[in-house]
Amino acid sequence: MKCEIIQDLLPSYIEKLTSLHSNEEIEKHLQTCESCLQSYHEMTATANLNVPIVDK
Ligand SMILES: [Zn+2]
Repeated sequence: MKCEIIQDLLPSYIEKLTSLHSNEEIEKHLQTCESCLQSYHEMTATANLNVPIVDK
């Protein structure tokens, strides 16, 4: 898969909205692509800041 597609799917992947097949492709790509892996880490960091895990 192209980096463009991976980066496009990452937000959905983080929210676990992607299909099982997509997950496999994304994980495979992240293991081989450092720039997408970095984007992934940045997105998870941002997601954690924006989305409160504990809601009263
Ligand atoms: Zn990539």
